[in-house]
Amino acid sequence: MTKKKILVTGGAGFIGSHLCRRLLAEGHDVLCVDSLFTGSKDNIADLLPNKNFEFLRHDIVEPLVVEVDQIYNLACPASPVHYQYNPVHTTKTSVNGAINMLGLARRTKARILQASTSEVYGDPEIHPQPETYWGRVNTVGPRACYDEGKRCAETLFFDYHRQHKLEIKVLRIFNTYGPNMHPNDGRVVSNFIVQALQNKDITIYGDGSQTRSFQYVDDLLEGMLRLMNSPADFTGPVNIGNPDEFTIKQLAEKVLELIPGSKSKLIYKPLPQDDPRQRQPDIRLAKEKLGWEPKVKLNEGLVKTVEYFRRTLAAK
Ligand code: NAD
Ligand code: UDP
Repeated sequence: MTKKKILVTGGAGFIGSHLCRRLLAEGHDVLCVDSLFTGSKDNIADLLPNKNFEFLRHDIVEPLVVEVDQIYNLACPASPVHYQYNPVHTTKTSVNGAINMLGLARRTKARILQASTSEVYGDPEIHPQPETYWGRVNTVGPRACYDEGKRCAETLFFDYHRQHKLEIKVLRIFNTYGPNMHPNDGRVVSNFIVQALQNKDITIYGDGSQTRSFQYVDDLLEGMLRLMNSPADFTGPVNIGNPDEFTIKQLAEKVLELIPGSKSKLIYKPLPQDDPRQRQPDIRLAKEKLGWEPKVKLNEGLVKTVEYFRRTLAAK
């Protein structure tokens, strides 16, 4: 392996912090760039003494001049609560941020990977979702700042590839969970676990019949690294997710099973606008091109995530 200088934007976030750790373990030099909007220095505290690791607080909406061999572009709030807090900035992060990182990749001749999302499929009428499906997104709804921002970022990646011959990789990530999620992240897995550990009501939005397919973070990282290091002519987009699909009510029941002493009750709250009814990745392309498929079952991943939140909440 040749040692590379690798930029991870959003490296202090949930997924980014795992990625930085993994790239360091592989012997690379890692530059973690993060505005700390939803990320935290706690996620990378153990990496700071490593001489191969650097942290830079920077917002990718502004240009960045550094020298790198590879870029993983993960910077963007991912939880609906956080991406809707300042929606204009969310769109700028995806669009201006992509332009800045693509410009950097062009100047340095770096290969660049975009952390795209299953949200590009919106509230899908095709199930499961293959990469060939163009999606159904409400352009003017409260989720559009995220969904349309990510869609436009994909467009920019492919135009830089066609126009400037950039080496790009576009990864469509489906709902991912695991240690290093923030206790106030607002996404469903962290909400339910934190609520159950604190004996608070478990907040199911709508009737809980909507579905998601949950992937453990280690599986995602394996897919992400395989994609980044795949032959140059494979650009994606490629789905990386776990096809095991659950209703949100089933998820709540599973979390309670794993935390048997919890006094939490299930309560029902209004379904947020434009909340997708169903979501499941078609992963045939990832299997064929990357030889990848997820290994971690929901129960196994939840056990590890519950342990993480137990430790984190106890330390507060
Ligand atoms: P996260 O919120 O934990 O991490 C995002 C990181 O980006 C945070 O550290 C945040 O501070 C940083 N950030 C946000 N805006 C920034 C900006 N303008 N400049 C610099 N840094 C900025 O979320 P995550 O789950 O780790 O998501 C990482 C990436 O993966 C995101 O791009 C997200 O859209 C994508 N993704 C995640 C999931 C998932 O289920 N976790 C699913 C699909 C896509
Ligand atoms: N959800 C819920 N209770 C919560 C948080 C989320 O019922 O406390 C639901 C949400 O309405 C959605 C699903 O869980 O149907 C997944 O939500 P999340 O925000 O994790 O991800 P996304 O909607 O972006 O897939």
